[in-house]
Amino acid sequence: MWLLLLGKVQTLENLNARGMQLAPFCCLCVGSEESMGHLFLHCCFVDSVWESVLSPLNGQRPNLFNFLTVESFLHAWPRVQGSVFVQKVWELVPYVVIWSVWCARNDVIFKGKRRNAEQVRRETMAYLWNWLAVDEERGDHHFSDLILGWEAMVQGIG
Ligand SMILES: [Zn+2]
Repeated sequence: MWLLLLGKVQTLENLNARGMQLAPFCCLCVGSEESMGHLFLHCCFVDSVWESVLSPLNGQRPNLFNFLTVESFLHAWPRVQGSVFVQKVWELVPYVVIWSVWCARNDVIFKGKRRNAEQVRRETMAYLWNWLAVDEERGDHHFSDLILGWEAMVQGIG
């Protein structure tokens, strides 16, 4: 799924590089040219989504502007100690945020449906829970564990 996502964005960038201005500006902030780096890391709207998801870190979250590419950001994503469940959740966080942003972006473009950062955060948590369904570790947990335990889980990571 991730490779497909990267492939589609790269295709858009490649088309723009050839002079086909399909989506010259980011539809989430309408302030910058859309690129993978902008859309997933540097967009002010996306930054507010990251801030919302990682708010328990109290500002100690990774500075997204330190990364020029999504790949370098993903490679630098910190590993954590903790239960297998916590490690699995944390490992999925950057991918699920990026996926949620991609869905939010596509809904603006193709459905005219715009969300605020809090709505994207909530959808991120729902996607995360669904993605965990393939992991046997989720069987011992409830969605409320993820929602109500999020702050402690993330603070334990930070
Ligand atoms: Zn933007």
